[in-house]
Amino acid sequence: MKPHFYNLTLGELEEYFVSQGEKKFRAGQLYRWVYGRGVTDVEAMSDMSKDLRARLPELFDWSRPKLVSDLLSVDGTRKFLFQIEEGMTYESVLIPSKGRLTLCVSSEVGCNMACQFCFTGKQKLKRRLTAGEIVNQVLLASQKLSDDTRISNIVFMGMGEPLDNMDAVLAAIEVMHSPWGFNIAKKKITVSTSGIVPMIPKVTASGARLAVSLNASNDEVRDRIMPINKRWPIRDLLDACVEHCTTARDRVTLEYVLLKDVTDSLEDARRLIQLVKNVPCKVNIIPFNEHPGSEFKRPSQTRIEAFQKKLMDSGVHVLLRKTMGRDIYAACGQLTSAFESHPKTMDIRP
Ligand code: SAH
Ligand code: SF4
Repeated sequence: MKPHFYNLTLGELEEYFVSQGEKKFRAGQLYRWVYGRGVTDVEAMSDMSKDLRARLPELFDWSRPKLVSDLLSVDGTRKFLFQIEEGMTYESVLIPSKGRLTLCVSSEVGCNMACQFCFTGKQKLKRRLTAGEIVNQVLLASQKLSDDTRISNIVFMGMGEPLDNMDAVLAAIEVMHSPWGFNIAKKKITVSTSGIVPMIPKVTASGARLAVSLNASNDEVRDRIMPINKRWPIRDLLDACVEHCTTARDRVTLEYVLLKDVTDSLEDARRLIQLVKNVPCKVNIIPFNEHPGSEFKRPSQTRIEAFQKKLMDSGVHVLLRKTMGRDIYAACGQLTSAFESHPKTMDIRP
């Protein structure tokens, strides 16, 4: 069977070219056309020989996910919906902010981790994405942007648990990072996990940055809202974070979702401060985003700010994540593969 072009890292593509009697450097050329310039029409690849151009359609499976919806929020956030087969869709969210353009990508359709507050977690895992399906989120989104606009940062914070689909995620990171590919520095790629502890060293080795969804200040609450905690409790998770930080010489981002009357008390803040005392980290507070059928509530602004202040006063580096894209259901925890449950009223750009 011929390989799928978008699943290949540059090294694999070179190997394949050589095995097919082509020159190794052609792989880099092809990579640059596709990922560097966003050109997927083989005929437009002017510096490739005519013979090779004629061969390319036979050498690879070039099929790609289909971009089926493109919604723009009033705040500039943009959400793309991709389809891989009938009833199987996944999303990416493009978030502009000062000096950077971040694409939040999905790694799976649905998710098996069953976090109680997460819309994606309400659906069981439908399918793990292939490396090519992950990479195509960046490629298809890039092709929608003007020539002088580039995606500068990637976060694996869309649908799915990236560490449950590690091989595809690692291959996708290679393509994103390759100077012949998207040329995005590893330190601008962040992988977020709910806490599959034994996989964390693989993220460390990849060179990408690590984010961890902590979301509770004790095991009792975390067990309840994130079932994965029963397998790898908070202490094991934070030990793995410290090890990552030491090896990578980096800080970890700890995400903390504020759920009204569940994780948002000042007692929670105090416990959190103790927990992270020896972890080189920045804490990212995410006020809960409501979604259809959610049993949790978002705390009041006063309560959110009191929680943030408590952390700040004790010297914890803390950031309050601004909610983006709520009108198009693109905010954290609102992504779903159920196309029917999307609002249909927003503008669909050409
Ligand atoms: N599966 C990975 C990455 C995707 S979730 C992980 O869990 O880390 C990205 C972030 O959104 C996580 O930190 C998660 O805790 C948060 N999140 C999920 N549902 C949310 C919701 N309804 N409101 C606010 N944040 C939410
Ligand atoms: Fe999956 Fe992350 Fe949602 Fe948990 S928060 S269900 S790990 S996507």
